[in-house]
Amino acid sequence: MSFDADEFKQQFPLFAQAENRQLVYLDNAATTQKPQAVIDAICDFYRHSNANTHRSSHRLARRATEMVERVRGRAAGFLHAASAREIVFCRGATEALNLLAYSLCSEMQPGDEIVISTAEHHANIVPWQMMAQRHRLILRYVPHTAGIPQFDRLGEVLSERTRVVSLTGGSNALGLRPDLAGIARQLRDWRTPGRALRWIVDAAQLAAHEVVDVQKIGCDFLVCSAHKFYGPTGIGLLYGRESLLRAMPPWQGGGEMIAEVDLYSSHYADLPHKFEAGTSPLAAIAGLGAALEFLANSDRDAMAAHEQRLMLWLHRELATLPGLRVISQPQHNLGIVAFTPGNGSAADLMHWLDGRDIAVRVGHHCAQPLIRAAGETATVRASVAAYNTQRDVEVFVQALRDYLQLAESPQSAPPQPGADWGLDDLSVLQVEQLASQRDWQDRYRELMRWGKSIRAKPEIRRPENLVRGCESEAWLVHREQGGRHYFALDSDSRVVKGLGALLLSQIDGRSAEEIRALDLSQMFADLGLEKHLSRSRSNGFYALLRQALAQAS
Ligand code: PMP
Repeated sequence: MSFDADEFKQQFPLFAQAENRQLVYLDNAATTQKPQAVIDAICDFYRHSNANTHRSSHRLARRATEMVERVRGRAAGFLHAASAREIVFCRGATEALNLLAYSLCSEMQPGDEIVISTAEHHANIVPWQMMAQRHRLILRYVPHTAGIPQFDRLGEVLSERTRVVSLTGGSNALGLRPDLAGIARQLRDWRTPGRALRWIVDAAQLAAHEVVDVQKIGCDFLVCSAHKFYGPTGIGLLYGRESLLRAMPPWQGGGEMIAEVDLYSSHYADLPHKFEAGTSPLAAIAGLGAALEFLANSDRDAMAAHEQRLMLWLHRELATLPGLRVISQPQHNLGIVAFTPGNGSAADLMHWLDGRDIAVRVGHHCAQPLIRAAGETATVRASVAAYNTQRDVEVFVQALRDYLQLAESPQSAPPQPGADWGLDDLSVLQVEQLASQRDWQDRYRELMRWGKSIRAKPEIRRPENLVRGCESEAWLVHREQGGRHYFALDSDSRVVKGLGALLLSQIDGRSAEEIRALDLSQMFADLGLEKHLSRSRSNGFYALLRQALAQAS
């Protein structure tokens, strides 16, 4: 089935804004853009139906209540739940996992075990750690190789005491999609009538890319967030088997979740309201309803095939770029390519891409154990959605090529062993030369070249020298000699080093009065840096400037 991504994209008004016409949005694993239908549903709710639900019975309240329960029914269909009673509205996957951890663990005995994996989002690690501490439970991890879980070896960590197996349906850091049928098989083999073992699937990523059928998967619980599948933020779904939800204690207490309140005890409401304390995000639920309808009217298989084509193409292209270390695998991947630049920092690369209006994410992606096991502290992650086009991925790969060409020359000379910090030779750096570059790209290249005059100085990398307010780590030291001030700088970021070189080329060796007389903010603006660099990079320059001025005075 052919899929026209350009046509699909037209339903997303953000891309039609003049400022976003060239935008390449590859940060979909963080959140997706919203179609017009979702935006309209949110506005329409406030325009026509705004009232609190369930508690009162006037016309508007009835309309809002009907809307909420209609969306719940639609959500049951979306996940193939047996009934709407099995659908609990939550703030998102995080809240749903916290609810499950709180409620399931409160019934466990000390020494009971919970199995998770190294590929989990922090939302599926931290709540279990918290509950394990509180109830003296044991956390076990699926066997892994260099951080990659071997889900086919799940059976090795199951024991008589395993009560919960909570695993990702797709990793947000690498895209890795476990074989859910294989997991189901192992759990089926393990389960006997006497063993109360619950299987939770974190489908925050999965639901964005595949049709989710909880009956087919065979899980007991499943969680997801609407904002990952074109819906609004602030609303997510918890699916739970009715018999299990019924037996579980509620999580939060308050209005809506009760049938009757006495002075010292209360009777809880029926499912699913028992788990929905307080006023729900009603407009977000209306938006969720529109997102579910939007997906129901879309060809999801064709969308998934298109995403897979883009993801495979990206992996193939990136494999040809020798300056990158690609960490994700194209097999069983929901649509993510994750990598690091061999030379320079991931943050530098992200800012370079941002300068070309390409949105990707850099960091540990709330999956620190996985990223750490890959030997990294941060990766660049590009994640696709169905509105991404072939042009998007081509522009992205071309930008990577340009960056790698720029960054390929080696970094500055190694430090002299044992020496106290010495000065960098900045005498060759001329602001005029920087200013004379024809366009922004050449100027940026020149700035990166300037960064190379700052050699590595592990001796100054101490907490007391850290520059506050700089997004990338930077260290600045200072000494005064004969009324003149001298500085030395170090950073992992080539751009920060370039900006530091620019700053130090102006102030190094000058008296405090001379430094104060300089209008460095004006110079920064005149060079077009404020306009072209991201705000966090500009802030980094001003943070360096502030610290240097403080040191000089
Ligand atoms: N699990 C996974 C796999 C995710 O990708 C995310 C969001 N990045 C979450 C859980 C948490 O979702 P939310 O922030 O919407 O609660």
